[in-house]
Amino acid sequence: MRRIGFIGLGNMGAPMARNLLKAGFAVRAFDLDADALEAARAAGAEAANSIQDAVRDVEAVVTALPAARHVRAALTGPEGAFAAARRGGLFVDCSTIDVETARALAAEAEAAGHQMLDSPMSGGVGGAEAGTLTFMVGGAEAAVERARPILSAMGRNVLHAGGAGAGAAAKICNNMMLAIQMIAVSEGFNLAARLGLDAQKLYDISSTATARCWSLNDYCPAPGPVPSAPSNRDYRPGFAADLMLKDLRIAMQAAQAAGAVTPMGAQATQLYAMMAAAGRGGEDFSGVIRYLDGV
Ligand code: NAD
Repeated sequence: MRRIGFIGLGNMGAPMARNLLKAGFAVRAFDLDADALEAARAAGAEAANSIQDAVRDVEAVVTALPAARHVRAALTGPEGAFAAARRGGLFVDCSTIDVETARALAAEAEAAGHQMLDSPMSGGVGGAEAGTLTFMVGGAEAAVERARPILSAMGRNVLHAGGAGAGAAAKICNNMMLAIQMIAVSEGFNLAARLGLDAQKLYDISSTATARCWSLNDYCPAPGPVPSAPSNRDYRPGFAADLMLKDLRIAMQAAQAAGAVTPMGAQATQLYAMMAAAGRGGEDFSGVIRYLDGV
């Protein structure tokens, strides 16, 4: 049986690892959180007791970690996965991290005799559970083909964006657009409420009109119209506002370095920073609707 090392069993990683198991892969799972590790074991994974243990004798290693510093900590250094894995390993990092780190990690992997892909994902926890994620992949063509059966077990679309770092670049551009879109939809529903317009009516109209978009149609921040959306479970994530803020900060750094003009991205960054400063970074990012409304 083909064996995958899986590091990071959080909101995304846990259901992704379950989908690998469902597809017939053996999974050696590791997370610093004992409860997350136990849940993976209960789902049929082998529970590893360290990073080194997770990557021993596996065909590929998938990481789904919060931020660049966690990915670095897991993969590099004498205790890290690059050093512990057998030569010729394939590393697939699905975390959202900055382009520069993604490129540096790919170079370090290569120096250690491995192949590495930056393969951030889109589709949220619902997509991770349903196995319908979109992966935007940066790295060499041959490595992408090697990873395709693994990624296809966790997602519906595997899109090769270009060389190392191109997946990370696509992801931060996507999430900057998403953050701006979510705030725009939230403002629309908050205005509707003040005008006495029913949220369901606005949804019925706008979801088929020119404002239609994923934030509105599939993840509506106003409770009611989309039963699966976090708005119907008191904005429990889902995708935490803190993680969206992390992505926006990466996007803003990239925009500054590249000289791109992104005023709406800057505004969205500030709004999510304010939401986080108000102690609400653990809420789903669609909770910005009630933050904006002073609730
Ligand atoms: P999460 O915080 O729920 O899970 C991260 C897990 O990593 C936690 O269980 C944590 O204990 C573990 N961890 C941290 N450092 C570790 C280490 N050194 N070794 C082992 N485990 C470690 O995060 P998430 O929501 O699953 O997101 C993971 C990544 O996917 C992030 O980069 C996020 O930006 C991205 N992402 C999330 C979503 C979403 O909707 N949640 C969507 C797309 C992309």
